[in-house]
Amino acid sequence: MLGKAVDPVCGMKIKKKEAAATSEYKGRTVYFCNRSCKEEFDRDPDKYASRLGR
Ligand SMILES: [Zn+2]
Repeated sequence: MLGKAVDPVCGMKIKKKEAAATSEYKGRTVYFCNRSCKEEFDRDPDKYASRLGR
């Protein structure tokens, strides 16, 4: 759905405009509810990548 994304670390649905942090993973943008989720993702992206929406 346009404008929304799932934070793959905590599973929270967030509006892309309101994301506290973003990261690039394999050419796509990943959105996070806060910076600690981004740090957790960046530490081990493959662990969380499967939770990304399609
Ligand atoms: Zn989060």
